Amino acid sequence: MSKHVVHMKGRSKPIEVGKIVCIGRNYVDHIQELNNERPSAPMFFIKPATALVPIEEPIRIPTYSHKARHELELALILNSRLFQCQEIEVLPAIDGYAVAIDVTLQDVQDRCKEKGQPWEIAKGFDGSCPISPFVPAADVSIPQDLMIKMLVNGKLRHNDSTKLMIWQIPAIVAAASQYFSLEPGDIVLTGTPAGVGPLEPGDKLEMTIEGVGRYSSTVAK
Ligand code: ZN
Repeated sequence: MSKHVVHMKGRSKPIEVGKIVCIGRNYVDHIQELNNERPSAPMFFIKPATALVPIEEPIRIPTYSHKARHELELALILNSRLFQCQEIEVLPAIDGYAVAIDVTLQDVQDRCKEKGQPWEIAKGFDGSCPISPFVPAADVSIPQDLMIKMLVNGKLRHNDSTKLMIWQIPAIVAAASQYFSLEPGDIVLTGTPAGVGPLEPGDKLEMTIEGVGRYSSTVAK
C-alpha cells in the first residue's frame, strides 16, 4: 500500500488521504495522567498524509528521539466536504472507522514546548500514524461506546470506552471544520484515553477497538 492511501473493508478501490486532523486532550483521565489542564475548547494539530503506515508494520522511532509514546485512538474518515459545519452534519459525512496510533516523541515534544516551538517533528514525522483498514460506518452502530484496549508485552496500557471523550465525535469534527476545510479522504483522530506509555525497540503491541478491529504490531529494533 502506498503511504497516502487507506483501505475500506469490502471496497476494492483505495481511498486517497488528504490530511489527518488530531485532537489533543480529549479524555478526562488522560489529562489527569499527564497533569495537563482541561482545555476550554478542543485543541487540534495536523499530521501530513506521509505519516500514515499500515498498522501491522513495525513502528520505526526516528533516531532523534529516545522517548516515544503510544496513544491508541479511534480514527474516522470523511466522504464529503465539511466547512464550518454543524454537529448534525457530521455523522452522515463519516465513511468509516479505523484503529490508529498517534506515535508521539515525548522528549522532542517536551523540548519544543519548552522553547515555545511548534512540535510537528514530534507528532507528524513519517510513520507517526500507523492505521488499520477502515470499517464502513454503517457497521459500527454506536461509535461513542467502544472499548479501546492496548497491551504492550502482555501488560495492559489503554482500557477505556470512547464514552469518556470530553468532546464527542460530532463536536470534534464540527469544531475542526471551523478552522480547516475537511475534505473527502481526510482522517480525524479522536484523542487518546489514559494508559499512554513508552514504546521500546522490540515491544509487542496488541490493539483492539471493539467492533473496529484487532491488530498486533511491534516496535522495530
Ligand atoms: Zn493523540
